[in-house]
Amino acid sequence: MARIAVIGAGIVGLACAFHLRADGHEITVIDPAPEGDKCSWGNAGGIGVAEVVPAAMPGLFWRVPGWLLDPLGPLALRPAHAPRMLPWLAALASATRPKRMEQAAAALASLLGRVYADLCPMLAAVGLEGQLHRAGALTVYRKRLALYADRAEWDLKRRHGIVCEQISGAEARRLEPALGPDITFGVVTPAWSHVSDPKAIWAALLADARTHGVTVRQGKASDVRTEGRVQLASGEAVDCDAVVLAAGAWSAPLARQAGDRVLLESERGYNLTVPAPGVSLSREVIFAEQKFVATPLSVGLRIGGAAEFAGLNAAPNFARARALGKLGASYLPGLSLKGGLQWMGQRPATPDSLPVLGPSPRRPDIFYAFGHGHLGLTLAATTGRMAADYFAVRTPPVDPLPFSVARFN
Ligand SMILES: Cc1cc2nc3c(=O)[nH]c(=O)nc-3n(C[C@H](O)[C@H](O)[C@H](O)COP(=O)(O)OP(=O)(O)OC[C@H]3O[C@@H](n4cnc5c(N)ncnc54)[C@H](O)[C@@H]3O)c2cc1C
Repeated sequence: MARIAVIGAGIVGLACAFHLRADGHEITVIDPAPEGDKCSWGNAGGIGVAEVVPAAMPGLFWRVPGWLLDPLGPLALRPAHAPRMLPWLAALASATRPKRMEQAAAALASLLGRVYADLCPMLAAVGLEGQLHRAGALTVYRKRLALYADRAEWDLKRRHGIVCEQISGAEARRLEPALGPDITFGVVTPAWSHVSDPKAIWAALLADARTHGVTVRQGKASDVRTEGRVQLASGEAVDCDAVVLAAGAWSAPLARQAGDRVLLESERGYNLTVPAPGVSLSREVIFAEQKFVATPLSVGLRIGGAAEFAGLNAAPNFARARALGKLGASYLPGLSLKGGLQWMGQRPATPDSLPVLGPSPRRPDIFYAFGHGHLGLTLAATTGRMAADYFAVRTPPVDPLPFSVARFN
């Protein structure tokens, strides 16, 4: 049994705490605001097991100018932040090479293939198995050309064994009668699922941690250079035998202290959660052309998306959340946006869309568990399982090599 400090009380840190305390370790979770808003609270609630397609697809950069032209469109890059992003962008460009993209997709597929085997037992253990709705997802298109432009992505998914059923607009409306008449195609991915409320899962994991003797310590980890202790910004320290770094989009400076270069950006996403939308969906719907989603949650219909690169400290631009609501209403004609709650979250994004999972090559007492981008909720349980396997020296369920931090050096 070891004393393990888990840095970060997001869904990933708590899933690591869950698996590590189950192995009998003594866990301290450190977070400056353990019960404060975080990316894990307000996400779209999708269990996106079909998402093997990395952001860095060949041809990506041809599509970017069109997205950037719309100030409230799916992609935004704040000019003041752009120079600081150059190394990340260069790595993104390099990750679009077909061979690199195929490798990333295969690695993602290996992790995503584990999701239900790890997530279902974790949800059951915290009494939330009823929170998972295995209803599939429906991706919809207005234009034939847009579906045609996405064909490489659908082919890639199919090559990885993911069932993707193309249907007509009328069939899509039969599945989701709230959709408007201008939908001409849909693609059903039955393996997908969604949860009732991502924040409820986070809260149940936090409560479970406390019930099982995990110490949740308020504090900002400021220094991990000395083995055997995590220094806090307050001047106090947490003594430990090992560390799991799961601080989401804030992880890179701490990894750097351990001697590991990481390319990590905050990819900010927005959403609007409407408590009484006046329409109902029975599964997550993905609006392919404008790159946003709508998920029927217990707290309302959540309409969200966007990728905004502005750094960790820029003020949110909630006009994006409102714009997403309006877009939603253009697809779902009966949608009322009244009382919609605006939210912004910082996705921890790597240029190759792969999380950083595994030990620091220089500091084997530190396990990295961050960089989950769009898939942190989906991959949290599998990440926790891999962290526990590492400290128990068990063979992990998937090859950890593609996720090593060493790929950035
Ligand atoms: C709009 C949107 C929609 C999304 N939809 C989905 C979806 O449908 N499905 C899905 O799987 N994923 C989705 N995601 C992504 C998912 O939310 C994230 O990948 C996930 O929440 C990341 O979890 P995390 O625990 O790594 O980070 P976080 O939840 O951000 O937690 C990190 C924690 O680390 C703490 N921290 C920071 N610095 C320090 C420090 N120095 N010391 C100690 N603690 C520190 C922070 O306070 C925070 O509590 C979405 C994200 C967004 C923004």
